[in-house]
Amino acid sequence: MGARNGADYLEGIKQRDAEIWLGDERIADVTVHPALRGCAQSIAQLYDMQHDVKLCDEMTYTSPTTGDPVGLSFLTPRTVDDLQRRSQMMFHWSRFSGGMLGRSSDYINVEIMAAAAAADYYSQNDPRFGENAQNYYEYARENDLCMTHTLVNPQSNRSLTASGHPSADVALRIVDENADGIVVRGARILATLGPLADEIMVFPSTVLKAAADTASFAFAFTIPCATPGLKMICREALAYGESRVDYPLSSRFEEMDTIVVFDDVLVPWDRVFLKSDPDLCSRHFPETGCLAHMAQQVTIKNICKSEFLLGIICSVTEALGSTEFQHVQEKVAECIINLETMKACLRASEADAKIDKWGVMRPAAAPLDAARNSFPRMYPRMVEILQLLSASSLMMIPPNSAFASPVAQDIDRYLASPKRDARDRIKLFRLAWDVACSGFAGRQVLYERFFFGDPVRMMSMLYRTYDKQPLINRVNEFLDRED
Ligand SMILES: Cc1cc2nc3c(=O)[nH]c(=O)nc-3n(C[C@H](O)[C@H](O)[C@H](O)COP(=O)(O)OP(=O)(O)OC[C@H]3O[C@@H](n4cnc5c(N)ncnc54)[C@H](O)[C@@H]3O)c2cc1C
Repeated sequence: MGARNGADYLEGIKQRDAEIWLGDERIADVTVHPALRGCAQSIAQLYDMQHDVKLCDEMTYTSPTTGDPVGLSFLTPRTVDDLQRRSQMMFHWSRFSGGMLGRSSDYINVEIMAAAAAADYYSQNDPRFGENAQNYYEYARENDLCMTHTLVNPQSNRSLTASGHPSADVALRIVDENADGIVVRGARILATLGPLADEIMVFPSTVLKAAADTASFAFAFTIPCATPGLKMICREALAYGESRVDYPLSSRFEEMDTIVVFDDVLVPWDRVFLKSDPDLCSRHFPETGCLAHMAQQVTIKNICKSEFLLGIICSVTEALGSTEFQHVQEKVAECIINLETMKACLRASEADAKIDKWGVMRPAAAPLDAARNSFPRMYPRMVEILQLLSASSLMMIPPNSAFASPVAQDIDRYLASPKRDARDRIKLFRLAWDVACSGFAGRQVLYERFFFGDPVRMMSMLYRTYDKQPLINRVNEFLDRED
């Protein structure tokens, strides 16, 4: 098949029979359901870009097996040029949503690519698993799958898990294995985009202790979302309406988050990447290079999101005539610094990239670690700045239908500003509201706080893995100086 277009994508998710629940309703067709169709259309538009004559050269490359165009995020980068070419493709996708579609499928595509290149890593566990990683990569690339992933067990009792041992009653675990595959039972949180994805990666993320009773919690596999026994339970939908003016972001980019329940789900052997080896599971993300490639995609999303927020903040201050106040400039400058910091991290990760032991050009980890540890603080702060600089304008935004009411003249008169008439101004501030105040906005803030995991433990991990000794040595050398 090769690179899909939007219609191919929509047809794929329409036809499969995944078990998706929203409240008391089992959703039969996600492409027409009011809670999901807006985002489904947006993802279809991403796939359409792969066939846009002006863009397709920057969105696709030639499949090494079929010679057909395939999505560029599947490219195995061998040079820095390859990395930058891939970045360009990711920028096109991410700028489309102002970075608000955090789970466009390039995020997982690079993970699948890196896993295939590091096939020997999985072969250490079982030679079949290395083959699985390679075969799955080809399958995903040639079918241009849209994927999500789920890594974390539910928060039933975190005090049980502090030692690295998951809570046994609810955590996803292997309960059986037979000639066909492994059987898993339990739940995972969360799978963003779950209802709109073709397949789901179920990988380990937390550090598991290498104890015999932990082995059943140690695995990595991929399966179609429409696998018998797999259920997705949606949170409340945050797309409150379909008006592009009133709900400019949530009507388009409501990705939906789901709890994923596995009721004795059979995972065929050819979909298993790791099994019963807590040590290999715990080291998987950094050692295979998956983490670095995903972090690069995420940094591009962070850049696009920072650009979008900065653009909105500048538009808002212009509309309000507040651009010349120093404290306003100081706050806007803070957002500029955030954007430029993200850009610098991306550039450094590409400039310092090196061929890794799997023969892949891997972006440098240190600048990406800096980016992924600082954005969880930057993003909420930029949203706060938007609130502080917009104030009541975030509430003085009657819905667009008010222009068809007897009070339209009042709105035209009282809500215009020197630079924008009332309609334009309301349009802008509805956007600002969907970034700063709506349910969609609150979810985006939470999402960024926890994107790569608990920020406290992420920082602790950075502290533990960063090579501090040369710096301590330098201080000691200075202290020993006599001249
Ligand atoms: C909007 C949204 C979308 C998401 N989408 C996805 C997705 O698509 N796929 C996916 O896999 N995950 C997703 N997640 C889940 C995300 O990965 C987790 O939220 C994140 O890893 C933190 O885990 P947790 O929520 O279980 O919080 P916890 O780890 O339970 O942390 C909660 C609080 O308890 C503290 N705490 C808990 N345990 C410890 C401990 N052992 N030591 C110290 N402090 C501790 C933390 O510091 C924190 O303050 C999503 C989350 C959100 C909010």
